[in-house]
Amino acid sequence: MRLTIAALVLSTTCAFAGGFVVKDVRVFDGDRTIEKTDVAVRDGRIVSVGSGVASRGLETIEGRGKTLLPGLIDAHVHVFPGAQQDALRFGVTTELDMFSMLPFLKDWQEQRRSLRRTSGADTWSAGIGVTAPGGHPTEMSGPFTVPVLAPGDDARAFVDKRVKEGSDYIKVIIEDLAEYPGRAPMPTLSRDQVCAVVSAAHADGKMAVVHVQTEAAAREAMDCGADGLAHLYPDRPADPVMVAQVKAHGMFIETTAAVWAGASGTGMADKLAADPRVALYLSQAQLRSLAYRGKTTMPDFFSNALASIRRYHAAGVPLLASTDAPNPSTAHGVSLHEELQIYVQAGYTPAEALHAATGAPADVFHLGDRGRIRKGDRADLVLVDGDPTRDIADTLSIERIWKNGFAVDRAPKEIRR
Ligand SMILES: [Zn+2]
Repeated sequence: MRLTIAALVLSTTCAFAGGFVVKDVRVFDGDRTIEKTDVAVRDGRIVSVGSGVASRGLETIEGRGKTLLPGLIDAHVHVFPGAQQDALRFGVTTELDMFSMLPFLKDWQEQRRSLRRTSGADTWSAGIGVTAPGGHPTEMSGPFTVPVLAPGDDARAFVDKRVKEGSDYIKVIIEDLAEYPGRAPMPTLSRDQVCAVVSAAHADGKMAVVHVQTEAAAREAMDCGADGLAHLYPDRPADPVMVAQVKAHGMFIETTAAVWAGASGTGMADKLAADPRVALYLSQAQLRSLAYRGKTTMPDFFSNALASIRRYHAAGVPLLASTDAPNPSTAHGVSLHEELQIYVQAGYTPAEALHAATGAPADVFHLGDRGRIRKGDRADLVLVDGDPTRDIADTLSIERIWKNGFAVDRAPKEIRR
């Protein structure tokens, strides 16, 4: 009941869409921190960043003691109905979907170009990824029949079809389950097929992002000229020679460390779900997904991922904060905050971690007017209490979220209790 009243008060505030200025606030602008400034928003866009702006006609929001962040970007998720709303209620204003069967790609493209009010995060998507008959993730596709690339099929024709459907980039899957000892191997694309798909993606002007969970698979992706890895492979700590080669190839890596934390049984997801700054805002889908456990515990995955984040970061390889939600122990939106905490645990400064969820993915995926607090960019903003540039866990102390300049209602669809 208390939440119902809070939600009503919040929705009344939401009606104000003319413009606002956040005064005397600390700003992390996607790259660096400005200790005290003003940020003004009008008609869905940031119109100025700097002290002493004319704020006549604008709602004034006191920013002292608070920090304004660009809307966060999760660089690896799987969207299902309701997921984009779950993401937005935790300050994730943009999601990069890495395999989806939903027939909404053109709608998502239209949405992310507009500045209209929305209750969900904007989305870029791989659409249908490229996998072998019986390959991952066909084992979990439920009622869907996943189109697959069989031996002898034309990779170029397969990729062209995805591009026509609206795929923003091409997801390729190398997965034989070698990282799970004792499990029967799974069919996967041949090396020649992977190389052919990467070439086809490039011929269509699209990036190729490759699912790998072993260093051997990562090497194959690199040798085929892939642009990025969809996971920081957790089967071993990254080999220093491999790290140098990935850097030389100019690749990026979506870390998905939150999912490895879950696989190793760290309990981070339970801690997150119980945090009073989080608990009230979780939807049933988020609660279920955070509590869900995979079949096997892989004790080394998380420590391997931490070591690899440290090495790849030291080498200057762009790492993109990403959750792989809704895989076991992760949920849309909320788990990106855990991912940021893991980056800091691995040796990132808090500001570097924030960059990995804002400026870095915006640059790598050419997302345009987002990921930064910059004059002219769309007003996707998160105001938090405290200073996440010093204590990264402060990103959870969300006071307000704006999407396209509109205040976001944080109450979940089901008001619980
Ligand atoms: Zn995934």
